[in-house]
This record gives sequence, C-alpha cells and structure tokens, in this order.
Amino acid sequence: MNRLRAVRDAPVIGDRVVYWMDASQRTVSNLALEHAVSVSNHSNLPLDVLFVINTDSPDFNRRSVSFMLDGMDDVAVGLEERGINLSVRIGNAVQEVLSHCQDAGAIIMDCGYLRHRRRDYDEILRSTDIAVHQLEDNVVVPPEIASDKEEWSAATLRRKITPMIPDWLDFAVRTEPKVRSHGLWGDEHTWNGVGSIEQFLPEEGPRPAASLRGGQNEANRKWRSFLEKGMAHYTEARNEPASDGQSGMSPHLHFGQISPVMMAAEAWGLPGSETFLEELIVRRELAVNFTLYNGHYDDYRCLPEWAAKTLGEHAVDRREHLYTFKELERAETHDPYWNAAQGEMLATGKMHGYMRMYWGKKIIEWSETPEQAFRAAVDLNDRYELDGRDPNGYAGIAWCFGKHDRPWKERPVFGKVRYMNARGLERKFFMPGYVDRVISMMEAFDGDGPPKI
Ligand SMILES: Cc1cc2nc3c(=O)[nH]c(=O)nc-3n(C[C@H](O)[C@H](O)[C@H](O)COP(=O)(O)OP(=O)(O)OC[C@H]3O[C@@H](n4cnc5c(N)ncnc54)[C@H](O)[C@@H]3O)c2cc1C
Repeated sequence: MNRLRAVRDAPVIGDRVVYWMDASQRTVSNLALEHAVSVSNHSNLPLDVLFVINTDSPDFNRRSVSFMLDGMDDVAVGLEERGINLSVRIGNAVQEVLSHCQDAGAIIMDCGYLRHRRRDYDEILRSTDIAVHQLEDNVVVPPEIASDKEEWSAATLRRKITPMIPDWLDFAVRTEPKVRSHGLWGDEHTWNGVGSIEQFLPEEGPRPAASLRGGQNEANRKWRSFLEKGMAHYTEARNEPASDGQSGMSPHLHFGQISPVMMAAEAWGLPGSETFLEELIVRRELAVNFTLYNGHYDDYRCLPEWAAKTLGEHAVDRREHLYTFKELERAETHDPYWNAAQGEMLATGKMHGYMRMYWGKKIIEWSETPEQAFRAAVDLNDRYELDGRDPNGYAGIAWCFGKHDRPWKERPVFGKVRYMNARGLERKFFMPGYVDRVISMMEAFDGDGPPKI
C-alpha cells in the first residue's frame, strides 16, 4: 500500500537530499527515512537528515523537550551506523527547513496531524519549487483513506477501518545508503557537535520527569517487554489504576519514537491483543480523524450539538465544589483520588488511562462553566503530560464532554453527558493502592512531599 501523501514532482538536482525528521523521531521502522535513502540512492546525492528543535511548537516546554532530546542520542547513533549525516538546528521549523534546503534536490517529510504541523507542510510546499515527498507511517490506516469525514463514534470508524487493517500492516524495511554523508558538512551543527542538551532546554514548563526516559531504544525495550509479559493480561489489567497493566507507549508514540504500524503488525494475532489493537488502532485513529476533520479540536466548540446543548442548559446548576485553575493544578481538591491522578501527572508526565477519564469528568463538575472546564483540562494536559499536545489528548478531553459518546440519564451539571464518581472507582478498583503508588512516585520526583510547580 502506498503511504506517499503529498508530492511535488520535480527532478532531484542539488547538493543533497534532505529528510526533515519531525513527527517520526526514529531510525527503526521509519518509512520517510527509508524513502529518503531510496531517493538519495537513485539520484546519487548524499542524504542529510535534519532535526529542528522547534521553538514555535506546542511541544516546546522543558519537560517535553528533555524527553524528546533523550531520543536524539539514539537517532544520531542509528544514522551514524548507516553513514548518514544528522544536522540539528534550533528555531522556527519552516524557516530552518527552508534555509537548510536552499541547495537541496529534494525534501522528504514525515507526517503529523495537528494544525501547526499541517500549516508547516503547506508553507514548505508553497515556498520552494524543489521535489517534496511526504510519507505517512504514524497511523496504521492513513486517515483520509479510513474516512472522508469526521466520524461520530468509535463504532462508526471501527466499521470502516477494520476490514482495511490487514492491508496496512507492512512496516518500513531498512534500505542501505549508497552514498556516505556522515560528517560531510562538518561538525558544527551535528548532534555530536552541539554539546550538552541542557543548553536547548527552555526555561518554561514543568521539570523533566526523571522516571520516564525518551528515545527509540527505551521505546523498543518497553515494547518488547510488554509483548512478552503484558499483552496476555492487558484486557484485565489495563484499567486497574493500582497496577501497571498498560503498555506505557503513549509518550514514545507522541514523539514518533516507535512505529505504530510495527507495533500493530507485531501484536496482530497474539493472545490478548484484540483489546490492545482496539486502543492502538481504532481509538488512536479516531483521535486522528477528529483532529483532521474538526477545526475546533482543542476548544469547546468541537462538541456535538447534543452535548453542547445539554451542558449549556446545566451551566447555571449549583456546583457543590468550585476550584480555581491554580487549585486544580496544585492538586488541592477535597478528592484524594483526583489529587492522586493530578499528582501522577505532575510527577511523572503520564497519568493512568482510567484515571484520565475521572480526572476530566471532575473538572467539569468543579468549574464555573463547561467552557472554563474544557480550557483548564486542555491547558493542564498539554503542559504536564509527556504525551499531551496530541490528537489523543484532545479527543480524550472532548470525550469527557460527550464527544464520540452518547447521551445518558440527565443529572445536575452534566446534563446528559456521562458522569463518573468516586464510589464507582472504589467498587471496581483498589484505590488505596493507587493513592500509595502515586505518593511514592511524588516522593521520588521531589524527595519530600508534593511536587513543586
Ligand atoms: C481526559 C483524557 C486525556 C487524555 N490525554 C491523552 C494524551 O494527552 N495523550 C495520549 O496519547 N492519550 C491520551 N488519552 C488517551 C489514553 O488515556 C492514553 O492514550 C493511554 O492511557 C496512554 O497510556 P498507554 O500508552 O500505556 O496506553 P495503552 O493502554 O497501553 O494503549 C496503547 C496505545 O493505544 C492508544 N490508546 C489507548 N487508549 C486510548 C484512547 N482512549 N484514545 C486514543 N488512543 C488510545 C495510545 O496510543 C496508547 O499508547 C487521554 C484520555 C482522556 C480520557
């Protein structure tokens, strides 16, 4: 199946082929990289992989840049082994790509879906007349092929996507470069030449979460371990907040440090993999569908009419508890489970999946208006989660407000939007175990007591 997405055909003439590595920060199973090697081989031009530390990206905060740059060591080694050069720049992505590619014969791009990335792709295509190829392998089924419109729910996407999946499980295989380029343009801008990553870390943003290390080596290690030990128990274990039953792959998927196509192909047919593949493919690609076709994906206007109407009708209902953004941020509510979830996010940058639903629902209950609640949830998620600023984050928050869900029994504040409460958590899970787990994570993060913000 062809994953070539947007192409400007032009003869490849210049001093190099440039692959701008952005959404797929990996050398293992990276179709854009392998395509770039083929173009370099065919044109007999050296390949230069460009990585831009994008100061205008929503990912540009201290915690997420630190996790992302953990991965650059792995990328540098992976490319060096194959004799491929890595150039690193810092600044606005479009400006850096265009100035770096002035004499290049072709630009190869990988593919992300949020509006800032799509704007960058359009601008690059508009601003140069050399060959531009874009390769898609951060989803299993390319979203425009899966559906040509915004899907109503997981059920409507599932019906369309399920028969297509087996045709899209081929993942990138390694092509050897014929032209060596490593070190060809001097050392000044290469990863090895830039020195410590500390100099690139923005002041802004939460402290790095030491418990999670980024990079493709760590992603692959974690994935292999989950395949071997976790997959068979995933269906029963994933929802229990007190245990570690999820794969832990979302921060790596967010930065493209591992290929979801490779993950899906390797999981396919394994005992216990059905539930996992539902999350990795149907739910994750429903989120991509949402961000691709709904221009308001990160604000309240993204909601379906029924949800906005019912939440609007109940906006005047009395709230038993009201918290300011700062109180939420500091995990200063009356609810120990919610505080634990927020504490987990502050300390580790990755909240347990089931608790994310509870977390979002309670923000609705404790905010003056649903619009304010939506903004607070997006701001907290984007700022603290390593996997935030991602289609999954926006779809997950919108789900708490009724997106991709159906109307339920009407009640105060929520109207017909699904409600969750602490008793439900206690009925299903061992909540003291979760709270204890988070307390030890917070202590490890801070040494003593709650995390400093
Ligand atoms: C309010 C809220 C906020 C969320 N914010 C984010 C976010 O910022 N980033 C993020 O990646 N996910 C987010 N999710 C979705 C989900 O909770 C996480 O993807 C999951 O918990 C990540 O942990 P894991 O990789 O260990 O998941 P696993 O359970 O091991 O699942 C494997 C992969 O499947 C995908 N997946 C799993 N559950 C979902 C889901 N519900 N929707 C879409 N894809 C899913 C993810 O890519 C995940 O890495 C959010 C959900 C909610 C309700």
